[in-house]
Amino acid sequence: MNIDLTSLNLLEKFIVEHGSAAVMQVHINFLREQLTALDRQMTELKTEAFNLKATNKNLTLQLQQSESKIRQLQPVGLHPFAGVLWKPSGGGFERTPYCPQCASHPVMFGQPPMGGDPMLWQCSVCGFTADFSGRPR
Ligand SMILES: [Zn+2]
Repeated sequence: MNIDLTSLNLLEKFIVEHGSAAVMQVHINFLREQLTALDRQMTELKTEAFNLKATNKNLTLQLQQSESKIRQLQPVGLHPFAGVLWKPSGGGFERTPYCPQCASHPVMFGQPPMGGDPMLWQCSVCGFTADFSGRPR
């Protein structure tokens, strides 16, 4: 068998070109698969981000509404003194305090109910008691 140098060079060139092309095709296919996977992930993340923004907006609105309700429930002008809340009235304070434990701050009653100053204040809603320790001035 007699192969001249030109034929050998052509054969080598053929192997290099076709070998490189095959390797290159494998790389391109791999990169295409990676790109497709990344594109799918990007779409999923965009959807997730969209949903999270909507949830965040909804939660922000709920928080604002809850804060507004809390402000409405907080005692306006009630002053803490001796473990209970007192409402100012005519330069002094009302005779009976309001419950500091209940969100609606109902009026408490004295125990015993009759007579002068009570021994303690009691809430008829939650049962909270506070010893009578004088009145605010
Ligand atoms: Zn109460």
